[in-house]
Amino acid sequence: MARIAVIGAGMGAMATAARLAVAGHQVTVYERGSTHGGSLGRFEREGFAFDTGPGLLHLPAVYRDLFVKTGKRRLEECVDLVQVDPAVRHVLADGTAVVLPGASRGGAAAALDEAFGAGAGDRWATVLNRARDAWDVTRRPLLEEPLRPDWQVLGRDPYPAVRKSGLLRRRPPTLAEVAARELGGQLGELLSARVREYGLDPATAPASAAVLPYMEQTFGSWYVRGGMRELATALYERCRERKVEFVFDAPVREVLAHEGRAAGVLLADGAGHPADHVVCGVDPRQLALPLPPGGVPAGAAAGAARHTLLLALRGARPAGTVHRTLVHSPGTQVTVLRPDDPAGRPDGDHEAVTVSAVCAPAGPAAGPAAAPAPAPEALLDLAARAVPGLHERLLWWESRTPADIEAATGAAGGAVPAPSLAGAGGRLLHPANATALPGLYLAGGWAHPGGGLAHAGMTGALVAGLIVEGAGFRGSQ
Ligand SMILES: Cc1cc2nc3c(=O)[nH]c(=O)nc-3n(C[C@H](O)[C@H](O)[C@H](O)COP(=O)(O)OP(=O)(O)OC[C@H]3O[C@@H](n4cnc5c(N)ncnc54)[C@H](O)[C@@H]3O)c2cc1C
Repeated sequence: MARIAVIGAGMGAMATAARLAVAGHQVTVYERGSTHGGSLGRFEREGFAFDTGPGLLHLPAVYRDLFVKTGKRRLEECVDLVQVDPAVRHVLADGTAVVLPGASRGGAAAALDEAFGAGAGDRWATVLNRARDAWDVTRRPLLEEPLRPDWQVLGRDPYPAVRKSGLLRRRPPTLAEVAARELGGQLGELLSARVREYGLDPATAPASAAVLPYMEQTFGSWYVRGGMRELATALYERCRERKVEFVFDAPVREVLAHEGRAAGVLLADGAGHPADHVVCGVDPRQLALPLPPGGVPAGAAAGAARHTLLLALRGARPAGTVHRTLVHSPGTQVTVLRPDDPAGRPDGDHEAVTVSAVCAPAGPAAGPAAAPAPAPEALLDLAARAVPGLHERLLWWESRTPADIEAATGAAGGAVPAPSLAGAGGRLLHPANATALPGLYLAGGWAHPGGGLAHAGMTGALVAGLIVEGAGFRGSQ
């Protein structure tokens, strides 16, 4: 039995902790805040309740596997997981609206034909089939195995090349180019918008970013009734069942090393806690950790932040309201979430709505290309295009800025890491889970295979595999 210190009580860290505890290790989680879950916050006021972090889960299989492997009760016995259907409604800049059903290729094609004319559904399906090919060839090396030492090979874009007569391609296309060439016009805008939601810029993201809408369409989008934080609480409880110890209000200042390997953690109050292995589940930049040698994938640079408004509305949520609407507008795009969940509202005569936009991280972490956080009034006006009568129904709103995300997660500027993607020369990969310091591992959204609930959850299986089976671990079979 080894002593393992885990830094942070985010989803990736807790997924790792639960798996290591099942393997018989003595695991202690040091969390700088006073509660578990990191990004998965909940804000409550006057009978309304809102998720302040993720609103949807993709690839629930990651958490199904985690719960099966760490205890007797399956995920569905611990949380009330519901598939969001329809999956998404798009409201385009000219007012065109299209509703895409959840996990139904045929249904999506029919809806697109109806909105954009015959053939639109086929063109969409062709692009998503190419995305499926990219998914199939990269799923294992990109998601299910520790980052390979020759990670540069993942810098090649797996999105199948489409030959254009007589044209010599100097570089692989970006997602925006694929959207323009293979879909065109408003249909292309739908593809770009779905990638922007992850904080990626279609103009620079590789074509392989099409795996993200492919993943959503194939595996569905899921909501946890009672709020997404219920998922974090279920995982916290699973950790506790497996005898993981949590120390709250315990910021880690430094990873201790002795004779060339990780030896424990030093807390901000000066107390040292020895350990045989250390798992860092936070943005490693804040602890200046030694990353793997050989040039490090710089996915950390890819994180954009979010500006979120929490809206308390008078009046009932109309029957048939779509859970997720994407409102398109030049320059700013907003995601409007309207969960059908009594836990979020004081009674049936009120509705809780969340509106968010991708924006630049705060302070020095801001990249030159990302747009600054939009003004709340601008977000409200865009949201009104998804919620008729919004201004008249509005009781009050609360704002969550990149600085609030930084306070919840510790990530510089409130950046939210994007999932790892192949292509773009490896620019969107994240650092490997094993570091240059033996005994120190990276978990959570800032490590391979990147951010998002599902991807961060996968880091748990990878880090636990590396610790339990050793450096030769090549992923679960
Ligand atoms: C506004 C927002 C919207 C999002 N939307 C989605 C979505 O719709 N779908 C989706 O899949 N994902 C979404 N995400 C991303 C997703 O929430 C995260 O990628 C996922 O929760 C994984 O987080 P993590 O494991 O990296 O930990 P984090 O959530 O980053 O938590 C890190 C934890 O470590 C603690 N910590 C930090 N520094 C220290 C330290 N020095 N010592 C001790 N503890 C420390 C923090 O207090 C925090 O508890 C969203 C995130 C945000 C913020």
